[in-house]
Amino acid sequence: MLCDKVNCQAQLIWGGSLEFKERRKSRQIVLGGVAIGGPAPVSVQSMTNTDTRDIAATAAQIKRLEKVGCELVRVAVPDEAAAFSLAAIKEQISIPLLADIHFNHRLALIAVEQGVDGLRLNPGNIGSAVRVREVVAACKDRAVPIRIGVNGGSLEKDLLIRYGPTPEALVESALGHVRLLEKENFTQIKISLKSSDVPATLAAYRELATRVDYPFHIGITEAGTKLRGAIKSAAGIALLLADGLGDTLRVSLTAPPEDEIFVAFEILKSLGLRKRGIELISCPTCGRTEIALIELAERVEDALTHIDKPLKIAVMGCVVNGPGEARHADFGIAGGKGVGLIFRKGEILKKLPESELLSALVAEVENYVADTVAS
Ligand code: SF4
Repeated sequence: MLCDKVNCQAQLIWGGSLEFKERRKSRQIVLGGVAIGGPAPVSVQSMTNTDTRDIAATAAQIKRLEKVGCELVRVAVPDEAAAFSLAAIKEQISIPLLADIHFNHRLALIAVEQGVDGLRLNPGNIGSAVRVREVVAACKDRAVPIRIGVNGGSLEKDLLIRYGPTPEALVESALGHVRLLEKENFTQIKISLKSSDVPATLAAYRELATRVDYPFHIGITEAGTKLRGAIKSAAGIALLLADGLGDTLRVSLTAPPEDEIFVAFEILKSLGLRKRGIELISCPTCGRTEIALIELAERVEDALTHIDKPLKIAVMGCVVNGPGEARHADFGIAGGKGVGLIFRKGEILKKLPESELLSALVAEVENYVADTVAS
């Protein structure tokens, strides 16, 4: 709903919730204590971009990811040295560690031995049935689930000949890998069907949802750089979630992995599916704006990244309409000419010079969070 008082795009609160399709009833698996599927909340994951053999750098990056809310982390395991680093990395982190393995069943066996909480591995790509059996036996022993990760860029040749580069090819590829695991009575499976094309991804997940009840790891692969990738991911992931599809997600960006977590939570928060940290409500600015609002909004966002508590923070351009238009915000700033108001739930707390607004807002928010924790 648009603001009806002035011709701006500041939104009024509606108070309802989106009509999503009923969430698909997937079976639940557990990776290192994190439940995926069934009624579990949609979890957020990322992948490191350090050299996994560099244990210190990889663990440090995972700790940074933990701090911003990452709930599961995947690392590439391209060789034995990387595989033998996994236990030492796991020792230093607090979230489940998943090993990403292509083609090499021996690396999968080492990773499981090292204590990882999950594998990403396509069983059809590791050679013989004997190798699949060995990996499945190790995973069963240690209760390690496997993600089948089908990617549009690496589909099997026979499927490409039969179906072309289509959603059907993605689905048939996934089902082929599923059959190999089910043949060994292994059902601790989740599946991703990734393509960099949003409509193809949606069509593929919709079809697969009619064929299996394993949980889905969703995302738009190779989505692009930070801004373009965030937009494309938001479009694809929101469509999937609105369709009731998706149990865990990764936003895939050409950017530091911490940015992937930020974007993932912003998508989930926007849809009302998760709560974490601040939700920033800021007006688009117009001819009435008399303070440096764009810069101020960015500084507010940066200054409050350490707040985990879900809070709505408004940064509005004018004192006449700002507090009223953002009355649903927990705290906010409304700018005037060289001055501004600090307000809480639409009520004005104080009027200050422009230069003091940021520090005053941060102090109000931090005091409020400290009081809530103490009470
Ligand atoms: S300054 Fe912002 S809140 Fe005020 S009228 Fe313009 S866009 Fe709306």
